Amino acid sequence: AQEALRQSQKMEAVGQLTGGIAHDFNNMLAVVIGSLDLLGRRIGDGDARQRRYIDAAADGARRAALLTQRLLAFSRQQPLKPEAIRVNQLVSGMSDLLRRSLGSDVLLETVLAAGAWPVHADPNQLENVILNLAVNARDAMPEGGRLTIETQNAHLDARYVAHHPGLTPGQYALIAVTDTGAGMPDDVIAKAFDPFFTTKEVGKGTGLGLSQVYGFVKQSGGHVKIYSEIDHGTTIKIYLPRLIGDTEEAAPDVFSQDVPLG
Ligand code: ADP
Repeated sequence: AQEALRQSQKMEAVGQLTGGIAHDFNNMLAVVIGSLDLLGRRIGDGDARQRRYIDAAADGARRAALLTQRLLAFSRQQPLKPEAIRVNQLVSGMSDLLRRSLGSDVLLETVLAAGAWPVHADPNQLENVILNLAVNARDAMPEGGRLTIETQNAHLDARYVAHHPGLTPGQYALIAVTDTGAGMPDDVIAKAFDPFFTTKEVGKGTGLGLSQVYGFVKQSGGHVKIYSEIDHGTTIKIYLPRLIGDTEEAAPDVFSQDVPLG
């Protein structure tokens, strides 16, 4: 049931990300398909080669339309319910769930910054995002390894945000999830946030985890970045805007290392 819930939550977030794009895209595809249809009729059976090109184009456009319809199906979903979140508390509260998800071969380590800034986001979605990152990390460490979840306060300056459209300079809470796994080649990093992009075998990956992460982070006014080194591991950093007016939090454990419980 937990897996089913996780799955439906993943799909909801993807809908949020892609629903708007899919809708516009579908309208454009309708123009393409309609025009190809007209062109096809005008040519009739006259020129076999032209006919084949038109059929191939129409076929591709129809498959693209099917995909956008699948994406649109995701977009029927509840809105995010943002509230004040103490990130250290949220991460600490997930340790049992995380340990169960990681299994006995992966060590869970949390490094929580004292005075971590609060954020304004949907706590269920944020938990889901962290869980997705942890599950990906576990999958990248089939022989076992270490998963580190770190919180920090971060200033993103004008120079940094200049490279990231839509991001404003200022104060962010940073949640970094690091594994000691296989790492990601550049071409995988480039596509990792795309819905349905997966390198996992059929049935193991949906390709929706990181697109959910991306959708959540964008909706929350934040930023996500992948750092990875082949055979060494991956760090995924999530920046969420600092909630002003709420108090800072004391870290429950500045450093805690948990021995996994099988
Ligand atoms: P899924 O996990 O279902 O494949 P995601 O969107 O979560 O979908 O991830 C997309 C792809 O990104 C994965 O298939 C994998 O190749 C890569 N990936 C994600 N996280 C990691 C990680 N921590 N280490 C190595 N590769 C990763």
